[in-house]
Amino acid sequence: MFNLSDILKKQTFTDEEIVYLLGLTDPQDCQKLKEEAYRRTTENTGNKVYYRGLIECSNICTANCRYCGIRKDNHNVKRYLMDKEDIVGQALWAADNGYGSICLQAGERHDEKFISFIEECLIEIHEKTVSEKLPDGLGITLSLGEQPIEVYERWAKASGNRRNLRYLARFETSNRELFDMLHSGKGNNEKVLDNRFRCLQNLRECGYQVGTGVMIGIPGQTLEDLCADIRMFQKLDVDMIGMGPYLMSEEADLVSLGQMENDKLFQLSLNMIAVCRLVLGNINIAAATALQVLHPEGRELGIEYGCNVIMPNLSPTKFRKGYQLYDFKPGLKDDPFTFGVRLESRINSRGREVGWNDSGSSKKWLMRSI
Ligand code: SF4
Repeated sequence: MFNLSDILKKQTFTDEEIVYLLGLTDPQDCQKLKEEAYRRTTENTGNKVYYRGLIECSNICTANCRYCGIRKDNHNVKRYLMDKEDIVGQALWAADNGYGSICLQAGERHDEKFISFIEECLIEIHEKTVSEKLPDGLGITLSLGEQPIEVYERWAKASGNRRNLRYLARFETSNRELFDMLHSGKGNNEKVLDNRFRCLQNLRECGYQVGTGVMIGIPGQTLEDLCADIRMFQKLDVDMIGMGPYLMSEEADLVSLGQMENDKLFQLSLNMIAVCRLVLGNINIAAATALQVLHPEGRELGIEYGCNVIMPNLSPTKFRKGYQLYDFKPGLKDDPFTFGVRLESRINSRGREVGWNDSGSSKKWLMRSI
């Protein structure tokens, strides 16, 4: 029999305790978990929430992940690649408006044209955003899939600033059977879990702050699987996590498996955030936009449960409909300025402040690099 108050005082946790915390459903128990996660977030990372302005550069993808609405074999999506001027323009807007960092996200491509295109964008963003406010230029997070180490190195060099450089490559689940089920789509860019782990190691070698994450509530996933995911985060010694609920997409290839009931999925997602905070301490944890699909204050509750990063969407609105990884993605029409102001007051209402003009490197990474 577990005693919640005693477990929440601990610094290290057994697998059984992690599974117990993940499975909490009683509102009073969840409240206690939330309060402890919030307290430890303040203790480990401070009181600030950092913005990463999200720029969805392109929805062209060579992969066929079965859960994804923009997988290669979905021919109902109109494909786009933003112009360099648009990407750099949005990055400059972010820098001018106090965002310390941005995230460039796109489907996975391995062709030289795309690799050098990203390189050129990075060079220009760095050149144009070094200022008194941002002496190292805008912080950059890349989320561009699995790439050879040479490509990671080229992009790191092009960024001009390895102190504020991050890469997010989620492994989605550490359960090999589930991973294979999610990625068994046909095509010549099939996914192997070990390759994903190798990419994360290569990113570390190139000097990136390493981010990964999983999907929560995949059909067939157990609490023990999520516990194993947390152990994998520990083993990989990650600097940041971006994870969210598994949401079905009508445009994906897994509709027949359905989706966990919303309230249950939402609480499980929040519990996973809180337990990651308890176990992993001073990493950055992003409040996924997907939380907002399940609850109108999903991201704010994510902050209460231990998140310290939010990714407002800066993509021009004309492209947003084309970047729907899952159904009912919110914010298709939000204009960045109004949204940013509204978001700040919602963050303040949770007792946090926005870390304006600060790229918000993870404390874990800062301590590692001293
Ligand atoms: S999850 Fe990423 S790599 Fe997989 S199909 Fe979607 S965009 Fe492509």
